[in-house]
Amino acid sequence: MSSKTSITILGATGSIGVSTLDVISRHLDQYTVFALTANTHVEKLLAQCLQFKPHYAVMVDEASAQQLSQLLQGTVAEETKVLQGAKALEEVASSEHVDYVMAAIVGAAGLLPSLAAAQSGKRVLLANKEALVMSGQLFMDAIRDNHAELLPIDSEHNAIFQSMPVGQNLRGVEKILLTGSGGPFRNREIDTLHAVTVAEAVAHPNWDMGKKISVDSATMMNKGLEVIEACWLFAVNEKQIQVVVHPQSTIHSMVSYVDGSVIAQLGNPDMRTPIAYSLAWPERMDAGVESLDFFDLARLDFEQPNFERFPCLRLAYEAHRAGGYASIALNASNEIAVAAFLQGEILFTQIPQMIEHCLADSPSGTPTHINEILQQDSHSREKALAWKLDQA
Ligand code: NDP
Ligand code: MG
Repeated sequence: MSSKTSITILGATGSIGVSTLDVISRHLDQYTVFALTANTHVEKLLAQCLQFKPHYAVMVDEASAQQLSQLLQGTVAEETKVLQGAKALEEVASSEHVDYVMAAIVGAAGLLPSLAAAQSGKRVLLANKEALVMSGQLFMDAIRDNHAELLPIDSEHNAIFQSMPVGQNLRGVEKILLTGSGGPFRNREIDTLHAVTVAEAVAHPNWDMGKKISVDSATMMNKGLEVIEACWLFAVNEKQIQVVVHPQSTIHSMVSYVDGSVIAQLGNPDMRTPIAYSLAWPERMDAGVESLDFFDLARLDFEQPNFERFPCLRLAYEAHRAGGYASIALNASNEIAVAAFLQGEILFTQIPQMIEHCLADSPSGTPTHINEILQQDSHSREKALAWKLDQA
């Protein structure tokens, strides 16, 4: 076997996947790509296969997998084996030939493969926050019980990780300050939010991301999911997390200590920084990111989050307090609501309404088995879809 670190990238064709391959391409002496996965974007995965020549390429969609397989014939990557279906994602995430797994599928579809990576003791580079929101306790137990490593890719959580005490314990930590830009509607008149268009919602002021997380940033559900994500990652409760709106996205989050110190991580808003950090940890390596020029920074602003403008943030706090079932309902209904908004089926302001409806009767407590998690997920999706039909 090669002495290089072997990596599977789940969600290779997405925004995080592409940034991960960019970082890896700068360090091919250290890293080799074992598997790349996508859902339907054949051309994009084909180009990546030609460049990185992975052992496996997985496409969840069957027709796309067949197409990719044909396109690879006679190319420099004809040795790449094409697999199809969701089960194959778990196989390439847990293979004994893999060291690190980048979990960058969007939404609940990433849960089982991310969990498979944790259960097989990999270094899990977790971008797929929805997986942790759905399965928090189970996921963290899988990491611990299988001696896996969990490195957060979400820029805020990566910043918190970097600002925590050595050993990642809470000694001397007073609270976590989770920053967020406030998205594109931070200053928009609240009574005009119903008229927000898809193009306006996906145009994030500082970050270039996939559509789903861009809408989540516009509703601030992204920050809500991140509060829950931080609770699980750092073993704190939601009262120990203060959301700080910071429009410039220069400070990526901070940890406040009992002696009055605040430790922050700053940088240009470029996901290659947390990706390179998590690949190289505990070392550092070049990410292709320009270093911050303090003389170019005009100013750094900070505001309290506005729960009236951003009801999704309030709903996320409430769901986390209510327990694991409610967090699953929150995530599932949010996924349905965002997809419906992107399809032009509901208004921007109906996103929190759909979620609130689904949270209303979610069971109390926290599921301990994966089947219970998946059942609650599909139940909440059905409920959200039924609500959508009622509104039409
Ligand atoms: P994208 O939408 O850009 O990419 C999603 C990836 O997941 C694509 O490779 C896509 O394949 C694949 N995918 C989508 N649906 C499925 C499915 N049902 N089964 C298997 N694969 C699927 O998303 P992002 O890269 O923006 O985000 C990925 C994750 O990272 C999310 O959880 C997000 O919250 C998180 N994150 C992203 C950040 C960012 O800057 N983008 C920052 C912090 C966190 P295909 O291309 O074929 O559709
Ligand atoms: Mg983030």
